[in-house]
Amino acid sequence: MGKKILVLPCSGIGKAYGEIGRQATYELAEDLKPGQVDTLCLGRLMIRDPEALERMEDSFVITVDGCAKDCALKNVEATGKKVDKAVRTLEVFKDHRDLKPEGVLNLGEPGFKLAHYLAEKLSGEVDCRMKEE
Ligand code: SF4
Repeated sequence: MGKKILVLPCSGIGKAYGEIGRQATYELAEDLKPGQVDTLCLGRLMIRDPEALERMEDSFVITVDGCAKDCALKNVEATGKKVDKAVRTLEVFKDHRDLKPEGVLNLGEPGFKLAHYLAEKLSGEVDCRMKEE
């Protein structure tokens, strides 16, 4: 296998949709695409951690943002790296308006369902990137 896929969720502190982005990324990396997908902490990009920048340079990059401020996308772009796909968690919610996360610290069943749907969407994006190789 060639390039890895690096999925970078925003930090989303205090925002349920940011938390959902992170949970979806974990499910993607651990359950849906183990060995194909990796992630790293956005803070390492902010301090220009050399190892994090190197990993990003050798990977396809997908960002996942919890709101229109697009912190993950902007953090990657600020390093000079082009993002291959930028996803907003709200894209998934349009199709599942009946599901509302219960809270930030405890997403509840609806919130985890949304995270699962987002993980499946991201999995489709990973498949697209792999076909490009
Ligand atoms: S994109 Fe929105 S939810 Fe995510 S870290 Fe930025 S402000 Fe918070």
